[in-house]
Amino acid sequence: MQKEAPHNMSNPQGQFNTLDALRFDNRVIRELPADPEPANNRRQVRGACYSRVLPTKVPQPKLVAYTREVADLLDLSYEACESETFTQVFAGNRLLPGMEPYAWCYGGHQFGNWAGQLGDGRAINLGEVVNRRGERWALQLKGAGPTPYSRTADGLAVLRSSVREFLCSEAMHHLGVPTTRALSLITSGENVIRDMFYDGNPKAEPGAIVCRVAPSFTRFGNFEIFASRGEIGVLKQLLDFTIHTDFPHLGEPSPRVYLDWFDEVCRRTADMMVHWVRVGFVHGVMNTDNMSVLGLTIDYGPYGWLEDYDPDWTPNTTDAGGRRYRFGNQPYIAQWNLFQLANAIYPLINQAEPLQQALSDYAQCYEQGWQAMMTQKLGLGAFDPATDDELISQLLDVLQLVETDMTIFFRRLALVDSELDSQQRANDDALMAPLEEAYYDPEKLIPEHRARIGNWLRAYLSRARQNGIPDARRREHMNAVNPKYVLRNYLAQLAIEKAEQGDSSTVTELLDVLRRPYDEQPGKESFAQKRPEWARHRAGCSMLSCSS
Ligand code: AMP
Ligand code: MG
Repeated sequence: MQKEAPHNMSNPQGQFNTLDALRFDNRVIRELPADPEPANNRRQVRGACYSRVLPTKVPQPKLVAYTREVADLLDLSYEACESETFTQVFAGNRLLPGMEPYAWCYGGHQFGNWAGQLGDGRAINLGEVVNRRGERWALQLKGAGPTPYSRTADGLAVLRSSVREFLCSEAMHHLGVPTTRALSLITSGENVIRDMFYDGNPKAEPGAIVCRVAPSFTRFGNFEIFASRGEIGVLKQLLDFTIHTDFPHLGEPSPRVYLDWFDEVCRRTADMMVHWVRVGFVHGVMNTDNMSVLGLTIDYGPYGWLEDYDPDWTPNTTDAGGRRYRFGNQPYIAQWNLFQLANAIYPLINQAEPLQQALSDYAQCYEQGWQAMMTQKLGLGAFDPATDDELISQLLDVLQLVETDMTIFFRRLALVDSELDSQQRANDDALMAPLEEAYYDPEKLIPEHRARIGNWLRAYLSRARQNGIPDARRREHMNAVNPKYVLRNYLAQLAIEKAEQGDSSTVTELLDVLRRPYDEQPGKESFAQKRPEWARHRAGCSMLSCSS
């Protein structure tokens, strides 16, 4: 394993030096109905929330990386994470006392169509750890072998997609975006066959297992499956359980509380959408089985980061035709998905109007969150409808005049100077000088473009001046919400290509840089550069499929 940057290896009081000290309290197993069938064959599972299933053992597990922050959440010492037992456990080869593995049963709408039973086809939950602060963290292996929900697939995951899930979970967390977390990335020592672009070119790739960590992994699809089958008793059990464990502040379950719950899921989802827009994240497969009721970003598949600002962009080649999950469409799809969740819980409420109300509140909540976020990105304090509707809509036009790197643009916008003398301020080139770096081909900026950018900048700076916001304060506020470092698509690909050669140094270095996405980090600037030309049309950098 590649060692991370130096850190304190001491074992502060309160951390477990051995894995055996992890305390499991498996409420899912204890309180929800289980599939009575013990065999691990693919099947339709009825009347149950989950099936007990063991991870498949792998021949030669090797730790590629683990995250100190997630170890801290579980009170695990770094020594414990670097032990052979850790690798065996989180590869699925060994169970710790208290672990009771199972796979969830869920359904989902995929690309707008009801797909029936899906379920954890390659994810196996190990149990719920309660840490010393009393927090509950579910542990889940992804790529740990087949389950009753694997349908026609193998239950495995390749290193390529596992590196992407591992790095992006943590990058999102450090950006302040709600997300599931990743504890470990382990190669299995076995090859897995994948036809990456579904074009008749299957290839052997190294297999891997990621341990994901979240308060729970409950998805919209967990509720949809029971509603679709008319299993209203189980539906109620699952919703009551979810409220008790993940939403205890809502009080004892009742139809009134179910509505409060739905309202909160709507608000959390709106908040997540605002964050995705803020950082330029495109999920790629926003099916209802990939939506967490906790409002966490979940299931990192063919996701991507906006390079040039293009609201129509989708990284997912499987979605290239309809572009259902393109960047600019995500907030609407989230609402469509919430509508499916509302339908699923309707039998427990039997009133359509308050559910519809919550769905329109979602739209309002998103709109307000988006306005506040955009004015923060501009360092302008509170949103002022008198000026900011126009200012922001013109900004979005300016961003699309020519190919403009979204991340660099907002970061460099902080450097635009309001103290220029009037002559310089009237000069478009002088005013926009800090932004030059954001353009993929500055030659394409014709004088008319430069004039429009200049005009917009003058309007922007005058809005800041009217509100008495000095440059220094504007910069500070902007740099706290506009990241310098994001997991650019080509960076993840570089890390993957090295990891496939057995070199995990780029995975570890990226993980480290992405820990502090808002800091300047001298010496790490190469990770903040715009996409190089070679990556423009390269597989894995600009095009991804669901194959993982
Ligand atoms: P996704 O769209 O990737 O979130 O996956 C949709 C469904 O397919 C889920 O039920 C997954 O568990 C399942 N699935 C995806 N890949 C595999 C695989 N390699 N083996 C078994 N099930 C899979
Ligand atoms: Mg999924």
